[in-house]
Amino acid sequence: MAVGDISEGFDSLYNSEKSLRFMEESVDKPEECLNCSYYKLCRGGCRRWRDVYGGGLGVSFLCEGYKKFSPTAKAG
Ligand code: SF4
Repeated sequence: MAVGDISEGFDSLYNSEKSLRFMEESVDKPEECLNCSYYKLCRGGCRRWRDVYGGGLGVSFLCEGYKKFSPTAKAG
């Protein structure tokens, strides 16, 4: 998802409707994330990875990988 055109300047990108919506949608996390023991490490992942197939916001596409990696990160 492109949020704007860099040739129009950084401020126009940062303040574009798409950019603001992206940031707003990043705040709300799925219930599964809020109850996840790895949330402090992952924080639900990037909003970008929560709608990879265009089916709406859900758990991150990378969730399974985060859960495999996180026990290692906690131990290290
Ligand atoms: S590991 Fe998965 S369920 Fe847990 S916070 Fe990250 S994305 Fe959410």
